[in-house]
Amino acid sequence: SHQNLNLRTLEQSEKLQNVCYEIRGPVHAEAARLEAEGHRILKLNIGNPALFGFEAPDVILRDMIHALPYSQGYSESAGVLSARRAVVTRYELIPDFPYFDVDDVLLGNGVSELITMTMQALLNNGDEVLIPSPDYPLWTAMTALSGGTPVHYRCDEDNGWNPSIEDIESKITGRTKAIVVINPNNPTGAVYSREVLERLVEVARRHSLLILADEIYDKILYDDAEHINVASLAPDLLTFTFNGLSKAYRVCGYRAGWVVMTGPKDHARGFIEGMGILASTRLCANVPAQHAIQVALGGYQSIDALVEPGGRLLEQRNVTWEKLNEIPGVSCVKPMGALYAFPKLDPEVHEIQDDEKFVQDLLLQEKILVVQGSGFNLDDTSHFRIVTLPWARDLSEAIDRIGNFLSSYRQ
Ligand code: PLP
Repeated sequence: SHQNLNLRTLEQSEKLQNVCYEIRGPVHAEAARLEAEGHRILKLNIGNPALFGFEAPDVILRDMIHALPYSQGYSESAGVLSARRAVVTRYELIPDFPYFDVDDVLLGNGVSELITMTMQALLNNGDEVLIPSPDYPLWTAMTALSGGTPVHYRCDEDNGWNPSIEDIESKITGRTKAIVVINPNNPTGAVYSREVLERLVEVARRHSLLILADEIYDKILYDDAEHINVASLAPDLLTFTFNGLSKAYRVCGYRAGWVVMTGPKDHARGFIEGMGILASTRLCANVPAQHAIQVALGGYQSIDALVEPGGRLLEQRNVTWEKLNEIPGVSCVKPMGALYAFPKLDPEVHEIQDDEKFVQDLLLQEKILVVQGSGFNLDDTSHFRIVTLPWARDLSEAIDRIGNFLSSYRQ
C-alpha cells in the first residue's frame, strides 16, 4: 500500500496566478457534471461549429485522408512549404496587403499556439501589452503567463464596440510593446471601421508598437460589413496577422493556424529569431492538418454561402439579435461578424452583482450554458456571450427561455 508515503503537496505554479480562461472554466465543469447525470445542455458557450452540424468542406476531408500516409514524419518547424505557399497566395489576392513570402509564415496548432509562442518570444517581465476589453481571453492569459502585464483598452458599446482610441492613447507607457486587435471581434461581433483602424495604426506608429492582429473571423461577415486587414494600413510597421482553419473552414478540432509577419523586420530580428526557436522546440504543428491548409484555401470558399442572404449563419445572427432585443431590459449591438452576440443586461432592470453566478443559475435552471461577460476581461457584470451557431429555431427557443428566466431572476 502507498498510504504511508508522505507526498509533497503540488500547487499550480505561481505563473498561473493571473491566468484565467473562463470559457472552459468552473461553470463549464458544472455543465459536464450535469451531462454526466443525464441532462441535455444547450451549449451556447463555445464557438465550436462542429457541435451544430457545420461540417467541413468535403475536399478538406478527402485531402486529409489522402495525405495521412505521407504525414507520418515531422515537418519543418515553420510548417510544410505547400501550406505556407498557399497562405502567401491567400493574402496576395487581398489588395493592399503588404508583400511577404513563405519565410514570413509560421504554421501552428491553431492560432492558440501561435499566440502563446508570440507572447513567450516577445515579453520580459513587466512588459505591457494593450489588449481590448472585452477580449478573447487567451490574449490576456498568455500575456500574463509570459510575465507581461495585460493593459486593457476600452471598446465602446455605444460606438458599435469600436476601440476607443483616446483610451488606447491614455494607456501607453514606456513599457508598452504591442497592441492586440481582434477584428472581427470575439465576443462582441464588431467589425471595425477603416477610420478607427487608421487611427489605431497611427497610435501604434507614433509609439513604435508591434501590432498583433487576430483576424480568425475575417471571412465571417454579415450584411455589408467590410473587413480591413490592419496589416494593409500598416505596411511600415511590423504586424503579425493570425488566422487559421478553425472557423471559416469548420475544422477547429484539426488545430491548423498560421501567423504572417509583414512590415520591416530588421529592428526585430532577435524577436523573430525567438519565434523560430520556440517553433523548433515544439518540433512542428500537427502535420495532417497542415496539409488541409492548401486545399482549404484554394478554390471555392464555402463559408460564403452561409453568410450571404438566405445563409444559415446570417439567419442565426438575425434571430439571435432580434430575439435578444425583445427581452425587457436587454439590449444587444448587432454583430456584424464572427459567431457571437454580446448582450447587455440593463443594471436598472436586472441587478446582477455576480455574473458568474448568473451564468451558473441559468445553467442549473434552464440547462443553457453561456459565458459571463467578466470572463472576457470586461470590468462589469452586466453582459454575457452567446454563440450564434445553433439552428435558428433552437436559438429562438433558447433566447425565449433566457428571457423567461430573467423575468423572475434576482440576485
Ligand atoms: N482567436 C479568437 C478571436 C478566437 O475566437 C479563437 C477561438 O475561438 C482563437 C483565436 C483560437 O483559435 P484556434 O482554434 O485557431 O486556436
